[in-house]
Amino acid sequence: MTETILVTGGAGYIGSHTTLALLEAGYDVVVLDNLCNSSNESLHRVAQLANKAALFVEGDIRDAALLDSLFAKHPISAVLHFAGLKAVGESVREPLRYYENNVAGTVTLCQAMARAGVYRLVFSSSATVYGEPTQMPIREDFPTGVPTNPYGRSKLMVEQLFADLAQSEPSWRIAALRYFNPVGAHHSGQIGEDPNGIPNNLLPYISQVAIGKLAQLAVFGNDYPTVDGTGVRDYIHVVDLADGHLKALQAMTSRSGLHIWNLGTGVGYSVLQMLKAFEQANGLTIPYRLVARRPGDIAECWADPAKAEEELGWRATRGLTDMMADTWRWQSANPQGYAVAAALNEPLSA
Ligand code: NAD
Ligand code: UDP
Repeated sequence: MTETILVTGGAGYIGSHTTLALLEAGYDVVVLDNLCNSSNESLHRVAQLANKAALFVEGDIRDAALLDSLFAKHPISAVLHFAGLKAVGESVREPLRYYENNVAGTVTLCQAMARAGVYRLVFSSSATVYGEPTQMPIREDFPTGVPTNPYGRSKLMVEQLFADLAQSEPSWRIAALRYFNPVGAHHSGQIGEDPNGIPNNLLPYISQVAIGKLAQLAVFGNDYPTVDGTGVRDYIHVVDLADGHLKALQAMTSRSGLHIWNLGTGVGYSVLQMLKAFEQANGLTIPYRLVARRPGDIAECWADPAKAEEELGWRATRGLTDMMADTWRWQSANPQGYAVAAALNEPLSA
Protein backbone atom coordinates (compact mmCIF):
# COMPACT_ATOMS: atom_id res chain seq x y z
CA MET A 1 0.00 0.00 0.00
CA THR A 2 1.19 3.51 -0.78
CA GLU A 3 2.41 5.31 2.32
CA THR A 4 1.53 8.95 2.96
CA ILE A 5 4.26 11.11 4.49
CA LEU A 6 3.77 14.53 6.05
CA VAL A 7 6.69 16.79 5.14
CA THR A 8 6.89 19.96 7.24
CA GLY A 9 8.92 22.70 5.56
CA GLY A 10 8.61 20.80 2.28
CA ALA A 11 8.67 23.96 0.12
CA GLY A 12 12.14 24.85 1.42
CA TYR A 13 15.56 23.97 0.10
CA ILE A 14 16.13 20.50 1.57
CA GLY A 15 12.43 19.73 1.97
CA SER A 16 11.68 20.28 -1.73
CA HIS A 17 14.49 17.96 -2.84
CA THR A 18 13.32 15.33 -0.36
CA THR A 19 9.69 15.72 -1.46
CA LEU A 20 10.84 15.03 -5.02
CA ALA A 21 12.75 11.93 -3.89
CA LEU A 22 9.69 10.70 -1.96
CA LEU A 23 7.36 11.18 -4.94
CA GLU A 24 9.84 9.44 -7.23
CA ALA A 25 10.01 6.53 -4.79
CA GLY A 26 6.21 6.16 -4.93
CA TYR A 27 5.14 7.82 -1.67
CA ASP A 28 2.18 10.16 -1.39
CA VAL A 29 3.24 13.43 0.20
CA VAL A 30 1.44 16.14 2.15
CA VAL A 31 3.57 19.28 2.52
CA LEU A 32 2.88 21.70 5.36
CA ASP A 33 4.79 24.97 5.01
CA ASN A 34 3.99 28.54 6.05
CA LEU A 35 6.24 29.87 3.24
CA CYS A 36 8.07 32.20 5.66
CA ASN A 37 11.35 31.36 3.91
CA SER A 38 10.26 29.77 0.64
CA SER A 39 7.91 29.87 -2.32
CA ASN A 40 5.53 27.12 -3.39
CA GLU A 41 6.96 27.57 -6.88
CA SER A 42 9.47 24.95 -5.69
CA LEU A 43 6.57 22.48 -5.41
CA HIS A 44 5.24 23.34 -8.87
CA ARG A 45 8.69 22.43 -10.17
CA VAL A 46 8.83 19.26 -8.07
CA ALA A 47 5.46 18.22 -9.53
CA GLN A 48 6.79 18.70 -13.07
CA LEU A 49 9.94 16.72 -12.34
CA ALA A 50 8.14 13.86 -10.59
CA ASN A 51 5.11 13.86 -12.86
CA LYS A 52 3.09 13.68 -9.67
CA ALA A 53 2.23 16.40 -7.15
CA ALA A 54 2.48 16.62 -3.40
CA LEU A 55 -0.59 18.01 -1.68
CA PHE A 56 0.39 21.47 -0.45
CA VAL A 57 -1.10 22.98 2.69
CA GLU A 58 -0.06 26.51 3.55
CA GLY A 59 0.07 26.63 7.32
CA ASP A 60 2.13 26.53 10.44
CA ILE A 61 3.48 23.68 12.56
CA ARG A 62 2.50 25.74 15.63
CA ASP A 63 -1.18 25.43 14.63
CA ALA A 64 -2.38 22.41 16.63
CA ALA A 65 -5.90 22.42 15.14
CA LEU A 66 -4.53 22.42 11.61
CA LEU A 67 -2.21 19.51 12.46
CA ASP A 68 -5.11 17.54 13.96
CA SER A 69 -7.15 18.09 10.79
CA LEU A 70 -4.26 16.93 8.58
CA PHE A 71 -3.80 13.73 10.57
CA ALA A 72 -7.57 13.16 10.52
CA LYS A 73 -7.90 13.75 6.77
CA HIS A 74 -4.86 11.86 5.45
CA PRO A 75 -3.53 8.36 6.25
CA ILE A 76 -0.16 9.77 7.37
CA SER A 77 2.25 7.08 8.56
CA ALA A 78 5.34 9.22 9.27
CA VAL A 79 6.58 12.80 9.41
CA LEU A 80 9.71 14.32 7.91
CA HIS A 81 10.21 17.49 9.93
CA PHE A 82 12.21 20.19 8.12
CA ALA A 83 10.19 23.25 9.18
CA GLY A 84 12.20 25.71 11.19
CA LEU A 85 14.21 28.90 11.06
CA LYS A 86 17.90 28.54 10.27
CA ALA A 87 19.73 31.89 10.12
CA VAL A 88 22.36 31.97 12.84
CA GLY A 89 22.73 35.78 13.03
CA GLU A 90 18.97 36.31 13.06
CA SER A 91 18.65 33.79 15.89
CA VAL A 92 20.96 35.95 18.02
CA ARG A 93 18.79 39.01 17.37
CA GLU A 94 15.43 37.23 17.68
CA PRO A 95 15.88 34.28 20.05
CA LEU A 96 12.21 34.03 21.01
CA ARG A 97 11.18 33.59 17.37
CA TYR A 98 13.73 30.81 17.01
CA TYR A 99 12.76 28.98 20.18
CA GLU A 100 9.07 29.39 19.33
CA ASN A 101 9.39 28.01 15.78
CA ASN A 102 12.07 25.41 16.29
CA VAL A 103 11.43 24.15 19.82
CA ALA A 104 7.80 25.01 20.64
CA GLY A 105 6.80 24.20 17.03
CA THR A 106 8.35 20.74 17.39
CA VAL A 107 6.54 20.22 20.71
CA THR A 108 3.20 21.10 19.06
CA LEU A 109 3.98 18.74 16.17
CA CYS A 110 4.90 15.85 18.49
CA GLN A 111 1.75 16.40 20.57
CA ALA A 112 -0.41 16.24 17.44
CA MET A 113 1.46 13.13 16.25
CA ALA A 114 0.84 11.42 19.60
CA ARG A 115 -2.85 12.35 19.48
CA ALA A 116 -3.04 10.82 16.02
CA GLY A 117 -1.01 7.73 16.98
CA VAL A 118 1.73 8.55 14.45
CA TYR A 119 5.10 7.95 16.08
CA ARG A 120 7.61 7.77 13.21
CA LEU A 121 9.56 11.00 12.79
CA VAL A 122 12.68 12.07 10.89
CA PHE A 123 14.18 15.37 12.05
CA SER A 124 16.61 17.86 10.51
CA SER A 125 19.32 18.24 13.09
CA SER A 126 22.73 19.74 12.47
CA ALA A 127 26.43 19.18 13.07
CA THR A 128 26.24 22.42 15.05
CA VAL A 129 25.13 20.30 18.07
CA TYR A 130 28.72 19.02 18.36
CA GLY A 131 29.96 22.53 19.26
CA GLU A 132 33.71 22.64 18.74
CA PRO A 133 34.97 19.04 18.76
CA THR A 134 38.66 18.50 19.40
CA GLN A 135 38.92 15.49 17.11
CA MET A 136 38.03 14.84 13.46
CA PRO A 137 36.16 13.13 11.89
CA ILE A 138 33.11 13.57 14.10
CA ARG A 139 31.29 10.45 15.25
CA GLU A 140 27.74 10.33 16.59
CA ASP A 141 28.99 9.11 19.98
CA PHE A 142 31.06 12.26 20.52
CA PRO A 143 29.56 14.36 23.30
CA THR A 144 27.33 17.18 22.13
CA GLY A 145 28.98 20.52 22.69
CA VAL A 146 27.84 24.01 23.46
CA PRO A 147 26.41 25.57 20.31
CA THR A 148 27.40 29.23 20.10
CA ASN A 149 23.98 30.66 19.15
CA PRO A 150 20.22 30.24 19.76
CA TYR A 151 19.75 28.43 16.42
CA GLY A 152 22.25 25.74 17.42
CA ARG A 153 20.83 25.52 20.92
CA SER A 154 17.33 25.07 19.49
CA LYS A 155 18.55 22.00 17.54
CA LEU A 156 20.23 20.56 20.64
CA MET A 157 17.12 21.20 22.77
CA VAL A 158 14.96 19.36 20.23
CA GLU A 159 17.34 16.37 20.26
CA GLN A 160 17.17 16.34 24.08
CA LEU A 161 13.39 16.58 23.93
CA PHE A 162 13.36 13.55 21.60
CA ALA A 163 15.54 11.55 23.99
CA ASP A 164 13.07 12.26 26.82
CA LEU A 165 10.12 11.45 24.58
CA ALA A 166 11.59 8.13 23.45
CA GLN A 167 12.26 7.23 27.12
CA SER A 168 8.73 8.06 28.17
CA GLU A 169 6.84 6.26 25.39
CA PRO A 170 8.33 3.27 23.55
CA SER A 171 6.09 3.77 20.52
CA TRP A 172 8.26 6.66 19.31
CA ARG A 173 10.63 5.93 16.42
CA ILE A 174 12.70 9.04 15.86
CA ALA A 175 15.67 9.65 13.56
CA ALA A 176 17.68 12.81 14.17
CA LEU A 177 19.85 13.41 11.12
CA ARG A 178 22.83 15.63 11.80
CA TYR A 179 23.52 17.38 8.52
CA PHE A 180 26.94 18.70 7.74
CA ASN A 181 26.92 21.43 5.02
CA PRO A 182 24.17 20.90 2.44
CA VAL A 183 24.95 22.40 -0.98
CA GLY A 184 24.08 21.93 -4.64
CA ALA A 185 20.80 21.57 -6.42
CA HIS A 186 18.80 19.01 -8.36
CA HIS A 187 20.63 18.03 -11.56
CA SER A 188 17.82 19.51 -13.70
CA GLY A 189 18.59 23.03 -12.41
CA GLN A 190 14.85 23.39 -11.73
CA ILE A 191 15.00 23.42 -7.93
CA GLY A 192 17.72 24.73 -5.66
CA GLU A 193 18.56 27.00 -2.76
CA ASP A 194 16.83 30.39 -2.88
CA PRO A 195 18.05 32.42 0.09
CA ASN A 196 16.33 35.61 1.17
CA GLY A 197 18.53 38.70 0.87
CA ILE A 198 22.30 38.42 1.08
CA PRO A 199 23.28 34.79 1.62
CA ASN A 200 25.08 33.75 4.81
CA ASN A 201 26.37 30.47 3.44
CA LEU A 202 29.42 29.98 1.28
CA LEU A 203 28.06 28.34 -1.89
CA PRO A 204 25.01 30.62 -2.33
CA TYR A 205 27.35 33.58 -1.82
CA ILE A 206 29.84 32.32 -4.42
CA SER A 207 27.07 31.67 -6.93
CA GLN A 208 25.62 35.15 -6.45
CA VAL A 209 29.06 36.63 -7.10
CA ALA A 210 29.20 34.48 -10.23
CA ILE A 211 25.83 35.77 -11.45
CA GLY A 212 26.93 39.37 -10.79
CA LYS A 213 24.55 40.15 -7.90
CA LEU A 214 27.40 40.48 -5.42
CA ALA A 215 30.83 42.00 -6.13
CA GLN A 216 33.22 39.60 -4.43
CA LEU A 217 33.42 36.85 -1.85
CA ALA A 218 34.77 37.77 1.58
CA VAL A 219 36.79 34.79 2.86
CA PHE A 220 36.34 34.79 6.62
CA GLY A 221 39.80 34.18 8.09
CA ASN A 222 42.97 32.69 6.63
CA ASP A 223 44.76 31.98 9.90
CA TYR A 224 42.98 28.82 10.99
CA PRO A 225 45.16 25.73 11.62
CA THR A 226 43.95 24.12 8.37
CA VAL A 227 45.42 23.13 5.01
CA ASP A 228 45.50 26.74 3.70
CA GLY A 229 44.35 28.73 6.74
CA THR A 230 40.70 28.95 5.66
CA GLY A 231 37.81 27.10 7.33
CA VAL A 232 37.18 23.45 6.43
CA ARG A 233 33.70 21.91 6.18
CA ASP A 234 32.08 18.70 4.97
CA TYR A 235 29.87 19.78 2.03
CA ILE A 236 27.16 17.32 1.07
CA HIS A 237 25.07 17.34 -2.09
CA VAL A 238 21.41 18.04 -1.29
CA VAL A 239 20.24 15.11 -3.45
CA ASP A 240 22.44 12.74 -1.42
CA LEU A 241 20.95 14.29 1.70
CA ALA A 242 17.43 13.71 0.37
CA ASP A 243 18.30 10.04 -0.26
CA GLY A 244 19.53 9.80 3.33
CA HIS A 245 16.05 10.83 4.52
CA LEU A 246 14.40 8.07 2.54
CA LYS A 247 16.82 5.54 4.00
CA ALA A 248 16.18 6.82 7.54
CA LEU A 249 12.43 6.79 6.98
CA GLN A 250 12.61 3.15 5.90
CA ALA A 251 14.98 2.21 8.74
CA MET A 252 12.57 3.64 11.31
CA THR A 253 9.85 1.16 10.35
CA SER A 254 11.81 -1.56 12.13
CA ARG A 255 13.51 0.41 14.93
CA SER A 256 12.21 2.11 18.01
CA GLY A 257 13.58 4.88 20.20
CA LEU A 258 15.83 7.76 19.13
CA HIS A 259 18.54 7.13 16.54
CA ILE A 260 21.13 9.63 15.47
CA TRP A 261 23.00 9.60 12.18
CA ASN A 262 25.54 11.98 10.67
CA LEU A 263 24.82 12.84 7.06
CA GLY A 264 28.10 14.00 5.58
CA THR A 265 30.65 12.78 3.05
CA GLY A 266 33.57 12.23 5.41
CA VAL A 267 35.77 14.68 3.48
CA GLY A 268 36.47 18.30 4.39
CA TYR A 269 37.31 21.10 1.96
CA SER A 270 38.61 24.59 2.73
CA VAL A 271 36.95 27.81 1.57
CA LEU A 272 39.69 28.36 -1.02
CA GLN A 273 39.41 24.77 -2.28
CA MET A 274 35.66 25.30 -2.70
CA LEU A 275 36.25 28.54 -4.57
CA LYS A 276 38.73 26.90 -6.94
CA ALA A 277 36.44 23.90 -7.47
CA PHE A 278 33.55 26.21 -8.39
CA GLU A 279 35.79 28.13 -10.83
CA GLN A 280 37.10 24.94 -12.43
CA ALA A 281 33.78 23.15 -12.73
CA ASN A 282 32.11 26.15 -14.34
CA GLY A 283 34.94 27.95 -16.18
CA LEU A 284 34.43 31.12 -14.15
CA THR A 285 36.60 33.44 -12.08
CA ILE A 286 35.30 34.51 -8.68
CA PRO A 287 36.83 37.65 -7.18
CA TYR A 288 37.53 37.39 -3.46
CA ARG A 289 39.29 39.09 -0.61
CA LEU A 290 40.57 37.78 2.68
CA VAL A 291 38.95 39.34 5.74
CA ALA A 292 38.84 38.68 9.49
CA ARG A 293 37.32 35.52 10.94
CA ARG A 294 33.53 35.47 11.38
CA PRO A 295 32.69 35.33 15.10
CA GLY A 296 31.45 31.91 16.24
CA ASP A 297 33.04 29.99 13.32
CA ILE A 298 35.07 26.87 14.06
CA ALA A 299 38.24 25.95 12.15
CA GLU A 300 37.14 22.61 10.77
CA CYS A 301 34.32 20.13 10.86
CA TRP A 302 33.78 16.92 8.98
CA ALA A 303 31.77 13.78 9.55
CA ASP A 304 32.53 10.17 10.09
CA PRO A 305 29.63 8.83 7.98
CA ALA A 306 30.31 5.14 8.79
CA LYS A 307 27.28 4.66 11.08
CA ALA A 308 24.85 5.77 8.35
CA GLU A 309 26.56 3.47 5.87
CA GLU A 310 26.45 0.47 8.23
CA GLU A 311 22.95 0.99 9.59
CA LEU A 312 21.12 2.73 6.75
CA GLY A 313 23.08 1.47 3.76
CA TRP A 314 23.50 5.12 2.78
CA ARG A 315 26.54 7.02 1.62
CA ALA A 316 27.03 10.23 -0.34
CA THR A 317 27.90 9.54 -3.96
CA ARG A 318 28.09 13.02 -5.48
CA GLY A 319 31.45 14.80 -5.44
CA LEU A 320 32.61 18.41 -5.58
CA THR A 321 32.30 18.76 -9.34
CA ASP A 322 28.62 17.74 -9.23
CA MET A 323 27.98 20.08 -6.31
CA MET A 324 29.51 23.02 -8.17
CA ALA A 325 28.03 22.31 -11.60
CA ASP A 326 24.54 21.71 -10.18
CA THR A 327 24.68 24.87 -8.04
CA TRP A 328 25.60 26.93 -11.09
CA ARG A 329 23.03 25.26 -13.36
CA TRP A 330 20.31 26.23 -10.87
CA GLN A 331 21.66 29.75 -10.20
CA SER A 332 22.31 30.67 -13.85
CA ALA A 333 18.88 29.40 -14.99
CA ASN A 334 17.15 31.17 -12.06
CA PRO A 335 19.07 34.38 -11.36
CA GLN A 336 16.18 35.67 -9.19
CA GLY A 337 15.53 32.28 -7.61
CA TYR A 338 11.84 31.38 -7.70
CA ALA A 339 10.65 35.01 -7.58
CA VAL A 340 9.84 35.66 -11.24
CA ALA A 341 8.22 32.30 -11.99
CA ALA A 342 6.26 32.40 -8.72
CA ALA A 343 4.66 35.70 -9.71
CA LEU A 344 3.35 34.11 -12.92
CA ASN A 345 1.88 31.01 -11.28
CA GLU A 346 -1.54 30.23 -9.94
CA PRO A 347 -1.59 29.44 -6.21
CA LEU A 348 -1.15 25.78 -5.32
CA SER A 349 -3.14 24.69 -2.31
CA ALA A 350 -5.10 21.90 -0.71
P1 NAD B 1 14.56 26.41 4.38
O1 NAD B 1 14.37 27.69 5.11
O2 NAD B 1 14.77 26.45 2.92
O3 NAD B 1 13.34 25.42 4.68
C1 NAD B 1 12.61 25.46 5.89
C2 NAD B 1 11.14 25.55 5.51
O4 NAD B 1 10.34 25.57 6.70
C3 NAD B 1 10.80 26.84 4.74
O5 NAD B 1 10.09 26.49 3.57
C4 NAD B 1 9.94 27.64 5.70
O6 NAD B 1 8.98 28.41 5.01
C5 NAD B 1 9.32 26.53 6.54
N1 NAD B 1 8.93 26.94 7.91
C6 NAD B 1 9.68 27.60 8.83
N2 NAD B 1 8.98 27.75 9.97
C7 NAD B 1 7.79 27.14 9.77
C8 NAD B 1 6.66 26.96 10.58
N3 NAD B 1 6.61 27.44 11.84
N4 NAD B 1 5.60 26.28 10.08
C9 NAD B 1 5.61 25.82 8.81
N5 NAD B 1 6.67 25.98 7.99
C10 NAD B 1 7.74 26.62 8.46
O7 NAD B 1 15.77 25.64 5.10
P2 NAD B 1 16.53 24.31 4.68
O8 NAD B 1 17.94 24.67 4.38
O9 NAD B 1 15.74 23.54 3.72
O10 NAD B 1 16.54 23.57 6.09
C11 NAD B 1 15.59 22.59 6.45
C12 NAD B 1 15.87 22.14 7.86
O11 NAD B 1 17.20 21.63 7.94
C13 NAD B 1 15.79 23.25 8.90
O12 NAD B 1 15.21 22.72 10.07
C14 NAD B 1 17.23 23.60 9.14
O13 NAD B 1 17.45 24.13 10.43
C15 NAD B 1 17.91 22.26 8.99
N6 NAD B 1 19.34 22.36 8.62
C16 NAD B 1 19.68 23.08 7.52
C17 NAD B 1 21.03 23.20 7.19
C18 NAD B 1 21.45 24.02 6.00
O14 NAD B 1 22.63 24.39 5.93
N7 NAD B 1 20.60 24.32 5.04
C19 NAD B 1 22.01 22.56 7.97
C20 NAD B 1 21.60 21.81 9.08
C21 NAD B 1 20.26 21.71 9.39
N1 UDP C 1 32.51 31.53 4.56
C1 UDP C 1 33.24 32.54 3.99
N2 UDP C 1 32.57 33.57 3.39
C2 UDP C 1 31.22 33.63 3.32
C3 UDP C 1 30.46 32.57 3.89
C4 UDP C 1 31.15 31.53 4.51
O1 UDP C 1 34.47 32.53 4.04
O2 UDP C 1 30.66 34.60 2.77
C5 UDP C 1 33.21 30.40 5.21
C6 UDP C 1 32.89 30.21 6.69
O3 UDP C 1 33.77 30.99 7.48
C7 UDP C 1 33.10 28.70 6.86
C8 UDP C 1 32.69 28.12 5.50
O4 UDP C 1 32.77 29.22 4.57
O5 UDP C 1 34.47 28.41 7.07
C9 UDP C 1 31.25 27.58 5.49
O6 UDP C 1 30.39 28.60 5.98
P1 UDP C 1 28.79 28.43 5.95
O7 UDP C 1 28.21 29.66 6.56
O8 UDP C 1 28.38 28.07 4.57
O9 UDP C 1 28.53 27.15 6.86
P2 UDP C 1 28.81 26.92 8.43
O10 UDP C 1 29.67 28.02 8.96
O11 UDP C 1 27.46 26.91 9.03
O12 UDP C 1 29.51 25.61 8.50
